[in-house]
Amino acid sequence: DSVFKNVDSAPPIQVFQLTKLFTDSTDPKKVNLGVGAYRTEEGKPWVLPVVHTAELQMANDLTLNHEYLPVAGLPDFRIAATQLLLGSNHTVIAENKVESFQALGGTGALRLGAAFLKNVMNFNVVYVSDPTWENHKGVFQAAGFSDVRLYRYWDSESRGLNFRGMCEDLSNAPENAVIILHGVAHNPTGIDPTKEQWEAIANICKEKKLFVFLDCAYQGFASGNLDEDGWASRYFADQDLDLFVAQSFSKNFGLYNERTGNLVVISRDPKKLTEVRSQMEIQIRIMWSNPPNHGARIVTTVLKNSAYFEEWKGQILIMADRIKKMRQELLDNLKKLGTPGNWDHITKQIGMFSYTGLTEKQVEYLKSKSIYLLSSGRISMCGLTSKNVEYVAKTIDEAIR
Ligand code: PLP
Repeated sequence: DSVFKNVDSAPPIQVFQLTKLFTDSTDPKKVNLGVGAYRTEEGKPWVLPVVHTAELQMANDLTLNHEYLPVAGLPDFRIAATQLLLGSNHTVIAENKVESFQALGGTGALRLGAAFLKNVMNFNVVYVSDPTWENHKGVFQAAGFSDVRLYRYWDSESRGLNFRGMCEDLSNAPENAVIILHGVAHNPTGIDPTKEQWEAIANICKEKKLFVFLDCAYQGFASGNLDEDGWASRYFADQDLDLFVAQSFSKNFGLYNERTGNLVVISRDPKKLTEVRSQMEIQIRIMWSNPPNHGARIVTTVLKNSAYFEEWKGQILIMADRIKKMRQELLDNLKKLGTPGNWDHITKQIGMFSYTGLTEKQVEYLKSKSIYLLSSGRISMCGLTSKNVEYVAKTIDEAIR
């Protein structure tokens, strides 16, 4: 008898289960629209050429070693990453109101921020958008937040943002509630607030003394432009708010398995950052002690070299453009088929995902035709290629009729 005899299986993690179904399928027409990772026109993962260049350079640099990094991470990485997010001329940088902490991807940045907010600040209420990335709730619960609430976000009628509902729910949130906002390219809906709407949201957060925690996992992926996609983060940083931003390099550098992220902390009072930093380092120490080197060094190598940086921007544009092209091709194919309903949201939505509005039953039909996607109807545009988009459109059309 094992001590584990009473352990029951946990429910499967849907995205990873989809990938397994896809991998196991022998259907030559199979399509994986579940995975949140970039794929080329050939349906393959892409090592960005500039990443490869940086890796070769690192491999040949005999001054590098595998010593532990500082608890807070690689100093040059933290600075370069924060400048990328906020723009190097941002006033909060000039006024020393920013600290940052290297973390295990965007997930680790969220988890670290949550640990600090729970253990040091004693915050206990967190609001996430309805719907949101499926891990937000779990990450905050694991950090000890016992009160996870939803604010309205998606309007299924208009297939757009329920801005009124969102503002109402935020306005009713208690003081010091942590508000998770997707800094750019909302996952799963692909719908972001407009600049005017962001301003209204910031005003509510300020007035109601809510704690804003931006999750910025897709900078560059929405518009193809890093500055444009950093707009909301930069705007919030400008508002004289205390603020956290979780930054991920998984998508825009294609460094998914290198767990490369950064938690940016902005304090209205720069003097308090010393204490914040010391407390944050304790939280890091008890979770992962110190962060991994490889991804952070790649990012730093690219961001600090102007030729590499330009090259990287070009490669982000390739990814963003391919996604836009796939949105257009999917829409064109659905229109050509005369698929009932309005599908314009597919090209209005931005970033890696589209919230199609397909029902669970329709999703089941697609899965029976070897097209794998989340039961919520979210599809990853990266799973589409010029070769499979016609088949996907045709199958969506069949599912709808
Ligand atoms: N936040 C959002 C909204 C995401 O979509 C993701 C990844 O899918 C993450 C955070 C986590 O990214 P990472 O893989 O860097 O932990």
